[in-house]
Amino acid sequence: MKRILAVAAVSLTFTSCSLLNIGSEPEPTKVVELDTLHVEEPSPRQPYKAAETRVADLIHTKLDVKFDWEKQYLYGKAWLDFTPYFYDMESFKIDAKGFDVNEVSLVSGSDRNPVDYNYDGSQIEVYLDSAYTRNDTFKLFIEYTAKPNELELEGSSAISDAKGLYFINPLGEDPNKPKQIWTQGEPESSSCWFPTIDSPNEKSTQEISITVQEKYKTLSNGKLQFSTVNGDGTRTDVWAQEKRHAPYLFMMAVGEFAVVEDSWRDSMLVDYYVEPEYEEHAQAIFGDTPEMIEFYSELFDYPYPWAKYSQVVVRDYVSGAMENTSAVIFGEFAQKTKRELIDDSPEDVIAHELIHHWFGDLVTCESWANLPLNESFATYGEYLWREHKYGRASADMHLHQDLQGYLREFNSGKHVDLIRFNHDKPGDMFDGHSYAKGGRVLHMLRKHLGDEAFFAGLSHYLKENKYEPVEIHQLRLAMEEVSGRDLNWFFNQWFLDEGHPQLTVQYDYIDSTGVQKVKVTQDQDATEFPIYKLPVQVGFFMPNGALIVHTIEIDSLEQTFSFDFRSEPEWINFDLEKMLLAEIDEQKPVEDWVAQYNESSLFYAKLTALNEIQKHLRKNDEAAKTAIAALEDPISGIQEKALSMLKVMPAEYDTIVVGKLKKLAKDDEDSEVRSTAINLLPKYADEEVVPLLENALEDSSYYVLVSTLDALYKIDPAKGLEKAENLEDAESGEVLMTVAGIYLEEGVKKDDYFLSLDKKIKGFSRISYMSLLSNYAAEIGSDQFRDKTLKILDKEANADQQWFVLYYAVDGMVRIRDAYETELETINEKYGEEESMEQEDTDRVKAIETKLADIESKFEVLREKIEHPRVQMLLN
Ligand SMILES: [Zn+2]
Repeated sequence: MKRILAVAAVSLTFTSCSLLNIGSEPEPTKVVELDTLHVEEPSPRQPYKAAETRVADLIHTKLDVKFDWEKQYLYGKAWLDFTPYFYDMESFKIDAKGFDVNEVSLVSGSDRNPVDYNYDGSQIEVYLDSAYTRNDTFKLFIEYTAKPNELELEGSSAISDAKGLYFINPLGEDPNKPKQIWTQGEPESSSCWFPTIDSPNEKSTQEISITVQEKYKTLSNGKLQFSTVNGDGTRTDVWAQEKRHAPYLFMMAVGEFAVVEDSWRDSMLVDYYVEPEYEEHAQAIFGDTPEMIEFYSELFDYPYPWAKYSQVVVRDYVSGAMENTSAVIFGEFAQKTKRELIDDSPEDVIAHELIHHWFGDLVTCESWANLPLNESFATYGEYLWREHKYGRASADMHLHQDLQGYLREFNSGKHVDLIRFNHDKPGDMFDGHSYAKGGRVLHMLRKHLGDEAFFAGLSHYLKENKYEPVEIHQLRLAMEEVSGRDLNWFFNQWFLDEGHPQLTVQYDYIDSTGVQKVKVTQDQDATEFPIYKLPVQVGFFMPNGALIVHTIEIDSLEQTFSFDFRSEPEWINFDLEKMLLAEIDEQKPVEDWVAQYNESSLFYAKLTALNEIQKHLRKNDEAAKTAIAALEDPISGIQEKALSMLKVMPAEYDTIVVGKLKKLAKDDEDSEVRSTAINLLPKYADEEVVPLLENALEDSSYYVLVSTLDALYKIDPAKGLEKAENLEDAESGEVLMTVAGIYLEEGVKKDDYFLSLDKKIKGFSRISYMSLLSNYAAEIGSDQFRDKTLKILDKEANADQQWFVLYYAVDGMVRIRDAYETELETINEKYGEEESMEQEDTDRVKAIETKLADIESKFEVLREKIEHPRVQMLLN
């Protein structure tokens, strides 16, 4: 599963609107808190969470389902084949959350013999007719109704992200949203739509018959076996998967999708399910998939193991994407036009979900405590694809973002082992540790073992454990077996302990003896974190141009390593490969950092050099010149870093800087770099800049278009406004909202335009839209406009979606209420205690009071409905 995307989308929205004043919108820093991976408070240490005990083994699952859109019910029949796992059994439990259970029977030939059972709303305890041994199998039939919206878990009201089965726009009331049904099983919600053993160490084959109205397409795991037109306006599609997989990977999707077909090795079906208006873009979005399947199949020396590969984009998805075996679900963020794809492609997520088909779907973590065996690999799989397709720098930039994500989580106080037997809820495992830190740990393992051993080890691990659940030791054993090396030390400190090294590195050359000393201290709190064993390469750059590399092994709190050199090294590069997961304070003079920038090709070597160089920009000409040269670095991430350094660049370099910025704005091949350069241009505006910006309005990138419009407006508001008006029909939500931001800033009355965006702004961009709209309503809008705005916001606030979307909807409503209240106060202040109010004001007060009462009644409903404390705070 990939969850971080939601956040990426949110922050993107803010970046592109950052110039524009959108009132009391929470600061972008708060957006980080919205990160679904971010845990606000470390939970107290929980008891040991063992893997689920295997009592009954589920061999095969056959389902027959149909839907009631109006009630949002699923009517299901299940035939489940079981065998006792080892011990004889007379009774056992099946997970089934929030069902009406109508029948539980043992099937014998064509007969069904009801058995006794006890159902507590979350599990069915089945009492069999006799004791069964592990040599027996039996088939159980269960007829049930799943009612995901009426699900009560742990006594609280329906949990929006654990319903398992979702009906989108079920009554068709929203003309802007297609009707869809889709499922989300991970971690333990599949049992909200079919009875199963809902644990990752269970694996079952499956067959699902889905009956829908004929206009809908269906998708499930495995292959479509056949379809039957039932003659009553419905059709039944039968999907089957012949290879075993875990219940959390079972899926269904129903909707009016366009399906674009592709293939792998000319024989396996690869297809893409999108909304019909994106049919022409589906190949551009997903078209690399066959090449990716080939890449991973070769890399792991294990051909893609499943019968087909489908990807579907759905509305209002509760996560980023999900690796359901051979039928991956994506949130709307993945649905982009070819032009939008220039700036931002879902490629990393496509790679992430695909690599799960080996690490997660084929070999599955046996318990959520072992989740990094799924997610660390999926995260590192993104690196591997980028490295293959775009080169190491692109991959390293991505890995660096991951590191930042992990460090943010660590610094917020979450200090936990990667493999965590003491987590609270399974959901707690889906965090920056399991994904980002784990991916980085695998990268280190690869660097320690070397590519050949690492990938041979992975292949061995996959082949040994295919279609089976695994725990972390199985990975270690496979790696040890292939490499011949003991790896307990590595797995103990990285997978089974918390934290990371914090190192200080100091250099000293003793002229008299010709000895170069390298002193390393481990500064992390040794009472909480391990003292690490760290084999690492140190590069010595000699005056004659030679590079001498030594591998040192750090294993104590403080160590000094000595090297005999005839002459003093020019500069030294600690962790030559830049692979350590560590915070490193490498102490060396600015000239050495300049040398590191100039003589390294690795992204991270250059980035750390620029971080140090930045501290010397004001006093060191060489530092400033290096930063300016870095604007034209071949690595876009380094260019971005250099651009960010311009805010502290002394003014004496302005002339040279503006020349470079103009060049980047016009010609750089990376749209993000062009866009960032344009963002910076207003500060240096000369007579060439406005014409340059006018040309940039023709740029193919929407990022560039947004920053250009912003920059033009900053330099010349009248021209900015004029250009904004020309872009009212742009096909990019970001551009449309930038236009709206300018209207708001200028106080231009554009009611129809603001309301028209309701249909055009989708996904997470709606958060920004709600802010812009409510600000406009509060500052400029008439009562009538405010009514329309409230209707839009109230609908969002009542919809079933993630809490922060609700937060922005309610925040907008609060803003309109406040505008009325301020107006009321202003009227009241006009009059002394004894004075009687003029008729006009009396009427207005009455009208406002009606409006306020109406808003209050909406709030009353929402107070009952939305439980999240941040939203409750707004409502009270
Ligand atoms: Zn994942």
